[in-house]
Amino acid sequence: MNRIEYDVNNLCCGGCAAKIQEKATKIVGVLQGNLDLYKKKLTLEIDEKFDEDSFLETINLFADAIEPGTTVTKRESEFENDINLNENRKKAEDKKEKIEKISLIVGILFFICIFIGEKFSQSLQLIFAILAYIVLGWDVVYKSLKNLNNGNFMDENFLMSVATFGAFYLNEPKEAVGVMLFYKIGEFFQEKAVAKSRKSIEKLLDIRPDYANVKDDMGNIVTILPQKLKIDDVIIVKSGEKIPVDGVIIKGESSLNTSALTGEALPVDVACGDEVLSGALNVGGVLEIKVTKLFKNSTISKIIELVEHTSTKKPKAEKFITKFAKYYTPFVVISAVIIATLVPFILGDFNLWFGRALIFLVISCPCALVLSVPLTFFSSIGLSSKQGILIKGGNYLEALSEIGTVVFDKTGTLTKGKFKIDKIENINCSIDEFLETVKIGEMYSNHPIAKTILMEKTPFDIAMYEKDVLNYKEINGQGISVHYKGSEILVGNYKLMKEHNIEVEEKVYPGTIIYVAKNNTFFGNLFISDEIKGDSKNTIEKLNSLNIKTYMLTGDNESVGKRVGEILNIPLSNVFTNLLPKDKVDKLEKIKNETFKKIIFVGDGINDAPVLSVADIGVAMGGIGSDIAIEAADVVIMKDEPSKIVELLHIAKVNKKVVLENIIFALGIKILVMILGVFGIANMWLAIFADVGVSVIAVLNAYWGVKRQLNFTENS
Ligand code: ADP
Ligand code: MG
Repeated sequence: MNRIEYDVNNLCCGGCAAKIQEKATKIVGVLQGNLDLYKKKLTLEIDEKFDEDSFLETINLFADAIEPGTTVTKRESEFENDINLNENRKKAEDKKEKIEKISLIVGILFFICIFIGEKFSQSLQLIFAILAYIVLGWDVVYKSLKNLNNGNFMDENFLMSVATFGAFYLNEPKEAVGVMLFYKIGEFFQEKAVAKSRKSIEKLLDIRPDYANVKDDMGNIVTILPQKLKIDDVIIVKSGEKIPVDGVIIKGESSLNTSALTGEALPVDVACGDEVLSGALNVGGVLEIKVTKLFKNSTISKIIELVEHTSTKKPKAEKFITKFAKYYTPFVVISAVIIATLVPFILGDFNLWFGRALIFLVISCPCALVLSVPLTFFSSIGLSSKQGILIKGGNYLEALSEIGTVVFDKTGTLTKGKFKIDKIENINCSIDEFLETVKIGEMYSNHPIAKTILMEKTPFDIAMYEKDVLNYKEINGQGISVHYKGSEILVGNYKLMKEHNIEVEEKVYPGTIIYVAKNNTFFGNLFISDEIKGDSKNTIEKLNSLNIKTYMLTGDNESVGKRVGEILNIPLSNVFTNLLPKDKVDKLEKIKNETFKKIIFVGDGINDAPVLSVADIGVAMGGIGSDIAIEAADVVIMKDEPSKIVELLHIAKVNKKVVLENIIFALGIKILVMILGVFGIANMWLAIFADVGVSVIAVLNAYWGVKRQLNFTENS
């Protein structure tokens, strides 16, 4: 299976986007399709039966029939071409906007003349009305005729043309031109509002560094595209520049502003040997960095890819609106036909009822909903990514508003995962020999415990030992087993000892106890402790106050687990200890069965990828955690702060509220105008407001409403 992307040009109508997407998925070789109206991008998943030329031919014919002028074109998605493409598109859009503006101005002038002409003679008025109508509405009529040819009666242009011709027939030229004028003005602002919101969000996401400085063979500094960097290249990042790819500092020290990645405003100090992530802004001295990851695998590219593909995971609300839109237009149009034919048949007065039916035609487009609902999700996801919260799809954001339980992992999630060695008990060997043995055991492990042990006393030099190490095995939730120069070393918890039949008694300590064995005999213990994160307690308290249940699952021993649970106010009956990764999955499933509401699991990614994928929403904390966890998670929090969970729930709530606001507002006004219309209270002017006015307001609310209510700067 492959993924392929196409540009979609000149498409503005949301209903049409859904139709084009549906058509695309029915073409041979296409497994799945997603048309993103805001990014004007069609993404397909295809198999080997896919033929690009015939696909493009079919889809272009169809797209043009659905919304005249729409084209689907190949996207040469490399960086340089993207820039050209964007520029070309921008030029075309600017030109289109200019023509629209001129025709609007000329149309308005003629529209005013209608009122002046009215004072002189009926026919002068009509002449100005026809002129204004031609200037404003020619393309609407043209598109509707073209579409009629395809048998598309429910097309917005066609319905608008019928409504305005109807007004002419009823000898209401002012209304006819007015409806067309405000329709055009509304469309103009609606397009602007969508484009503006899209741009604002894109700007938020525009954290992609666009160049890198490297030293060439002569020692001169040259600027190249970050895509061209290779692993082990040395790059230079000056003050005020973004780090283009992930790497490690080999010279210099500085401060980095990582707000684009984590939402954290305070700069962090870095020095030689530190790992740095792409997207961070250098705000201090010059740094020399050795590249450790290619651009496409670097953090920044991953973030952008994550956020860009969110629209393939559609929330229920959006699916509902798409479905609703399918029935809404026919329903309104059929109602209009009934009002114009059946009702006067019974009650008489054809012209009166015909006029009222026209009102229905004007509000028959579900645009307000089709545009604003997905835009709201897009806004929420874009704005949260700015806060270091990456939500992988609208469906997850939606599920987050139905959360009843949050299950936490302990180590690295609620605690810092920065262990301190309190005490060492070495048996039958010197402390140096003991530590060396333990370090050999831990040398490849990413576990926070391992990282602490490796830093104890003197830093560990892997290269010195690597050649003598065999059969390295990390047993998730237990520890390590490895062979070194023929002897077997075990480092881990009591479970690990028992599993290997090592004779040792279980000890108690209010911290984590590491057991070490060599050649099947017990070798000693390390007693270590971890610190609880500063905001863990607050987070649990806030969740409790929101009536959300909290649990803690840990692979650590009971005494530590209970102690942490107690300090944090997690009910002791909700603290489960000594769990292997698979036990965590079982436990989570049990908790899931006990509640109707949705469950979040929050982990730091070490040892909890399986459980992350079982939860309704898996949240991986600490973007630098493990890659597997980030794959498995539905939400990635770039910063190691549990309090982001509360923020995440808040985002979901705001998003839901704005979606509901827009649905209720848009549908409410439309239904109201329909009812008033039947009783002759609403007129064409109100109808046109219910159509485009409502649409513009809903679109504006989708971005500004979310932005205002999230009000991040105050929260974080
Ligand atoms: P948690 O569920 O609290 O995040 P883990 O599942 O990561 O904890 O680990 C559970 C236990 O397994 C640890 O408390 C430790 O005793 C042991 N363990 C796991 N990995 C290692 C390792 N690399 N070195 C030593 N002990 C380990
Ligand atoms: Mg953990």
